[in-house]
Amino acid sequence: MNPTEPSAAKPFSLACPVPRQDHETIQMAHGGGGRLMRRLIEELFRKEFSADPAAPAHDSAVLDTPGGRLAFTTDTFVVHPIEFPGGDIGHLAVYGTVNDLAMAGAAPLALSAGVILEEGFPIETLRRVVASIRAATEEVGARIVTGDTKVVDRGKADGIFINTAGVGWVPSGVELSPTRVRPGDAVIVSGDLGRHGVAVMSVREGLRFEGALPSDCASLAGLVAAMLQADPDIHCLRDLTRGGLASALCEIAEDARVGIRLDEAAIPVSPPVAGACELLGLDPLYVANEGRLVAFVPAEAAERILEVMRSHPAAPQPAIIGQVTTDGAGVVELRGALGGSRVVDLLSGEQMPRIC
Ligand code: MG
Repeated sequence: MNPTEPSAAKPFSLACPVPRQDHETIQMAHGGGGRLMRRLIEELFRKEFSADPAAPAHDSAVLDTPGGRLAFTTDTFVVHPIEFPGGDIGHLAVYGTVNDLAMAGAAPLALSAGVILEEGFPIETLRRVVASIRAATEEVGARIVTGDTKVVDRGKADGIFINTAGVGWVPSGVELSPTRVRPGDAVIVSGDLGRHGVAVMSVREGLRFEGALPSDCASLAGLVAAMLQADPDIHCLRDLTRGGLASALCEIAEDARVGIRLDEAAIPVSPPVAGACELLGLDPLYVANEGRLVAFVPAEAAERILEVMRSHPAAPQPAIIGQVTTDGAGVVELRGALGGSRVVDLLSGEQMPRIC
């Protein structure tokens, strides 16, 4: 979530207040994809920084320039551990920012990298991280064009933190925004959910599972370009990072003032991830992904877009999982196979800290 982007003020439950008094401090629960983080961003950062509080939040800011529309975004990476099955902090730092640009329809043009190092961090590990950043930027066809390095005292950071920012041109005719989501839109996910969170948590918890459970960590730029080529009128895209599918849908439903109805049986979760989530006490709908997106598309275009996704390696298991409705603005409803249903809500706090 980009705090510099304007957003409409939202009604929030008083059950999870943002710190209002000077003696209150930031807690880990503020750091996630939940309701507390959203309040912190909207009631503090956006209130101070936003030029247009009525506009909705999105993954990148889109700026009008004489040369066209420029997408601009930034993200900071504090993942622990820095190396995990299927990825590392270097690849994550590139893909995370590239994917936020892609959610505005932009291909990455140039990236910055700011690195905070703790005294004592091994140079050999730093070399691996830098090589990883370089490999990922080459893969997505971008370059790191500027950067910064700071070293802090031992104990004042945890090894390495990385911030990246990125810019890219938004193709003319492309307008991806929660405000374009309409009742009747089909809701599509690009693949099975929960792999990144489970990969990181299993290392952290010292768990070994039968068969590999690598992160889904990947660039979505190529996939988005192919989808937009199939239909430039796609309404909205969101990558399913911290807070997972559930948080992304709750935020979009609130911003677009629509309801979303999901078919639980259609949501792809692999059996190993489902099993690991049960063991770890996690709900895969809220678990972070680093290479998955949700798309809101006009119903009549859904099959055509799905067809393009099926032939793209970055969309391993695309599926229509629900539709946008008029029942209850901001309400996300999950319908089970046996006909029961439950409301999906933003978590009040953090489910998995330091996941990205
Ligand atoms: Mg994002």
